Amino acid sequence: MLPGDFIGTTEEFRAGIGTYERMGGIYASVTGTVKVNTANRFVSVNPSIGTPPLLRQGDVVVGQVTGLRDTLALVTIAGAKGTTDREISNISPAVIHVSNIKKAYVRNISYEFGIFDIVKARIADIKNMRLDTSEPEMGVMKALCSRCGTAMVLDNSKLKCPECGRVETRKISTDYGTGII
Ligand code: ZN
Repeated sequence: MLPGDFIGTTEEFRAGIGTYERMGGIYASVTGTVKVNTANRFVSVNPSIGTPPLLRQGDVVVGQVTGLRDTLALVTIAGAKGTTDREISNISPAVIHVSNIKKAYVRNISYEFGIFDIVKARIADIKNMRLDTSEPEMGVMKALCSRCGTAMVLDNSKLKCPECGRVETRKISTDYGTGII
């Protein structure tokens, strides 16, 4: 069980330690294993001890764009906000679907992300590892010029290569170039 996982309904069980109730459902509030007391129908989650922390829905992560398809960007997660001092155990390839890039319509995904870009994103769906960059702080943190590989600098809401002058567009984070996670 992971935090937020559905255990059962309040008609079947009573919420015990390591759980919470929400709208008739009982959910795990900690990572661990479910125990049911058959006598009083209390359900509880015993926390797992010694396992590395897991990424959770809503976490802010930083990763690198490793592939682009028509409707999604593939991202390899490198770390998560607030977890720099701990190991992350459930790293799997993540995706940013075209509908989760920004609030406005995306005409061409290659105007939003480039291969090797460093992006900051929020985990919108932990089960399918879908990320979202529609918030202003989310998006590209660092981009390399697709012509010469130099780190691009922000120039009037576009990115400009200080080496060769090439201009590219991205879904840019308001923290672009700062390294702030
Ligand atoms: Zn360049």
